[in-house]
Amino acid sequence: VKYVFVTGGVVSGLGKGITAASLGRLLKMRGYKVTSQKFDPYINIDPGTMNPIQHGEVFVTDDGAETDLDLGHYERFIDESLNKNSNVTTGKVYWSILQKERHGDFGGHTVQVVPHITNEIKDRFYRNPDAKDTEVAIIEIGGTVGDIESQPFLEAIRQFQHEVGPKNCIMIHVTLIPYLKASGEIKTKPTQASVKNLQGMGIQPDILVCRSDLPLDQGIKDKIALFCNVPSRNVIQNLDVDVLYEVPLAMEKEHLADVVCECLDMECPPPAEHAWLE
Ligand code: ADP
Repeated sequence: VKYVFVTGGVVSGLGKGITAASLGRLLKMRGYKVTSQKFDPYINIDPGTMNPIQHGEVFVTDDGAETDLDLGHYERFIDESLNKNSNVTTGKVYWSILQKERHGDFGGHTVQVVPHITNEIKDRFYRNPDAKDTEVAIIEIGGTVGDIESQPFLEAIRQFQHEVGPKNCIMIHVTLIPYLKASGEIKTKPTQASVKNLQGMGIQPDILVCRSDLPLDQGIKDKIALFCNVPSRNVIQNLDVDVLYEVPLAMEKEHLADVVCECLDMECPPPAEHAWLE
């Protein structure tokens, strides 16, 4: 299995879930078997008890798990059935560690965030025994880089990439490129700061998906690439669309799947359902 982690920077609600779901669709169209997971830094065990007006829909999987709304995006975009392992929260991770602690499983050792919580997170990265033929797991980390509560997840993905190797595990960072109306400028600094933040945690993003109001010209893409240490081709623009189902099409035009396959050392044949893209 190859892994694609999706993180978000600058602000929340940028469309990490939609980006992850769109990528899944584009890889599936190339014949790859794809699955998705969402890791959420909040302490609720699952969103089942959370106010849907505040948090959005509770998406119920076939096996009855009450999960985050992003899993709904994944299923609708990718058309693969997900399950209770597809959504992991900080609450679930601690719940399981605390039960092991009470059971005496740690044999008198001090139980710590590193390594116990981070190991528990790593153990939960895609472990669906029913889908052994999965080729790519797309894993979204909820929240924004820089949040206190995301740190164990980011440390876990850093270690995970170190263990499985950079050709088997890549990082997509979704950021915001704001436009300042008064000065008429597109600003890359928040993105640079967010990438520095990630680098400070030992993570180098491979691909940047940039949400922006205005199209990014080559000059801006080159600038982002230079300062964030990625090839220009790996800077993908993600403009606002009217209908969410247009996002995969927009991502295809930006060659997201090609760049992902290149980073993962995988073939990237033209999409099988070509007509779908017209
Ligand atoms: P995150 O996972 O980063 O919190 P979501 O994927 O849930 O963000 O998206 C946040 C909101 O932004 C959703 O309501 C989604 O419909 C909207 N959205 C995401 N991408 C786009 C886009 N390219 N154009 C317009 N709306 C978008």
